[in-house]
Amino acid sequence: QDVKSRGGDFSMVCSKREVRGVVMHSLSAELRRAIDEDELVLYLQPLVDVSAAKTYGAEVLVRWQHPRRGLIMPGDFIPRAERSGLMDDLTFWVLRRGIGYAARLRQGGRDLRISINVSARSLLRRDFPDNLQKLMDERGLPGTALTLELTEDTLMADQSRTLEIVERLAATGVQISIDDFGTGYSQLAYLKRLPVSEIKIDRSFVQDMLESDTDLSIVSATISLAHALKLRAVGEGVESSAQLERLRALGCDLIQGFYVGHPMPVGQFERWLRDRDTHTPVS
Ligand code: C2E
Ligand code: MG
Ligand code: MG
Ligand code: MG
Repeated sequence: QDVKSRGGDFSMVCSKREVRGVVMHSLSAELRRAIDEDELVLYLQPLVDVSAAKTYGAEVLVRWQHPRRGLIMPGDFIPRAERSGLMDDLTFWVLRRGIGYAARLRQGGRDLRISINVSARSLLRRDFPDNLQKLMDERGLPGTALTLELTEDTLMADQSRTLEIVERLAATGVQISIDDFGTGYSQLAYLKRLPVSEIKIDRSFVQDMLESDTDLSIVSATISLAHALKLRAVGEGVESSAQLERLRALGCDLIQGFYVGHPMPVGQFERWLRDRDTHTPVS
């Protein structure tokens, strides 16, 4: 009986582990299929110029339109893509689609800069700059129409390699933006050598800055730092006109957030652009 119960326990542990393995495996397999069969969807969120109220560009944010589970947000599948070795394929999918879309916008006479998020893993591949260049050549998109958003941690991870890759990208006109600034840690001595063009102030600071003097000081200091380094400052997560006004007063260059526009699928983004054409006074 002893043996039997131990055997029972053992087989239970075994089957639990197996079940978990199968679930993990099937989700990764589903993600693989999502990438191969275009279940991923591009959303676009506008970036606008805070002083001229002009549309400056848009950030590409990926979603997964799952056939049964519905719309899945990137926070719920990007970590899994990282863990199961699918991140390079996902990055490439988004770049290919994002660059294709940016090229179409330009052919339609829209001079917008498209921002695409890139993870550390993908950026640090030796063939990343060449692969990116190939995609841009195929679509005839000039580097100057593209910004890559990298987090502080991505930029700080492997500094000499990052510097080399970012310099190669900058030589093609592609701009680099530091995403979620203030949540990681940046070394200023290194930052000043990196050819970056933009700092995006993390939305946690923007969201609290009207209630918290500390957050307001961080936002203000980050804008000053950006300008001292001759970079654009972007306020992300702007949800109210009061936040917009404050950022304007602080000299922030660009803003992004629900107050201006939510991330939208392509068709809706184009309606949003046309609406702005008719309702925004030209300045
Ligand atoms: P992120 O690059 O910092 O993107 C901004 C996130 O803030 C988006 O969430 C956006 O929907 C959200 N957001 C924008 N404005 C507001 C606002 O006013 N209020 C609030 N509460 N939220 C706002 P999303 O789309 O869920 O993306 C989350 C993160 O997933 C992104 O953060 C980015 O780090 C990552 N991500 C998204 N797409 C990609 C991608 O194609 N590749 C990679 N590597 N990462 C991606
Ligand atoms: Mg981003
Ligand atoms: Mg961000
Ligand atoms: Mg963020």
